[in-house]
Amino acid sequence: MTKLIPSWVESANTAETDFPLNNLPYGVFSTNRLEARCGVAIGDMILDMAALEEAGLLDLGAGTLFAAPGWNAVMAAGPKVWSALRTRLTDMLAADAADQATIAPHLVPTAEARMHMPFTVAEFTDFYSGRHHATNVGTMFRGAENALPPNWLHLPIGYNGRASSVVVSGTDIRRPWGQLKSPDHDMPAFLPSRRFDIELEMGAIVGTPSDGPISVAQADQNIFGYVLLNDWSARDIQAWEYQPLGPFQAKATATTISPWIVTRAALEPFRCDTPAREFELLDHLKDAGPMLYDIDLSVTLAPEGAAPSTIARTNYNEMYYSSAQQLAHHTTSGCPMRTGDLLGSGTISGPEKENRGALLELSWGGKEPITLDTGETRSFIEDNDTLGLHGAAQGDGYKIGFGDCIGKVLPALKDPYAGT
Ligand code: MN
Repeated sequence: MTKLIPSWVESANTAETDFPLNNLPYGVFSTNRLEARCGVAIGDMILDMAALEEAGLLDLGAGTLFAAPGWNAVMAAGPKVWSALRTRLTDMLAADAADQATIAPHLVPTAEARMHMPFTVAEFTDFYSGRHHATNVGTMFRGAENALPPNWLHLPIGYNGRASSVVVSGTDIRRPWGQLKSPDHDMPAFLPSRRFDIELEMGAIVGTPSDGPISVAQADQNIFGYVLLNDWSARDIQAWEYQPLGPFQAKATATTISPWIVTRAALEPFRCDTPAREFELLDHLKDAGPMLYDIDLSVTLAPEGAAPSTIARTNYNEMYYSSAQQLAHHTTSGCPMRTGDLLGSGTISGPEKENRGALLELSWGGKEPITLDTGETRSFIEDNDTLGLHGAAQGDGYKIGFGDCIGKVLPALKDPYAGT
């Protein structure tokens, strides 16, 4: 297992920080004096990439990369630039770096920063590739005999989501209204969702575009990095609307991502295999090496004014399909993929009750409410609850963290059409 690479930024050399020199995740930040711009997290500081580039300290031979507050230009510049940038940043920030004095003025304390969307989402596709989650939800919605649809073990099921609804951690989420029908009513009603939920997922970001079918190995190479992703879900709206074309408004309120893109390069030491296959996959979806990652994940819920309770713990290695397999599948039809496309993994639940990545599963459809550290119980999210996703790959004396993926759920509007 690889060890911590020491940095002259002291706060990056602890076992607790999410952002040692081994990580170098990419975000967008602003402060009271700086407009939104690209930054790289190192310990409790952020390296101002726009300022570095302006000062002529970052010439990678790829033209201007940091004129806009987003990482799309770097992603579009391709893998050679990705690798050159990571090498340059490592050289600048390593404990024995020669140019400390010229770099140090471009570090901004994270405590002074507000985080923004790290990239412009081209399109958003959400998958359903966690076997424990799909089995649990299928059992609740269709019964144990029909839990996994017949296609599930042969391809990663997905649906096209909305890029416009992806927001960065810290953005408040308004409880949605929608059409729903309770089992004891004959007719649907238009009401605020009463079963508003999270989905603990990882998001993969496409860096290199493609036009036509690509292999799983190529798909892996085209992925730029990963974020934590909370696919907010209104279960009552979903249950009524989802057949036969899948979720629509139930998933369109918002999807929250963590503020830092953790690159594929940073996660390289943590690669692991997908689980054993029940059926051999068709050739175009076969595993082409270890393409999952060993990333510990957890979910917290904090009622208004109370400390967060951890309500679930799981690991990204529970997925049945890797993001590379999902991306390869996405292209089988010839569907072009673009720089900035975001692919949600699907909810990552593990085999045990405490490993479940959604309240729907944790409370088994509301039948078994969970108890928080405060003694309160929850079946689904209540108004003013703050939900958090947390994730890190554990190295030898360091970790590769993602930063938190947080959202507070505000009460539904009294009348969503007021003023229209
Ligand atoms: Mn989802």
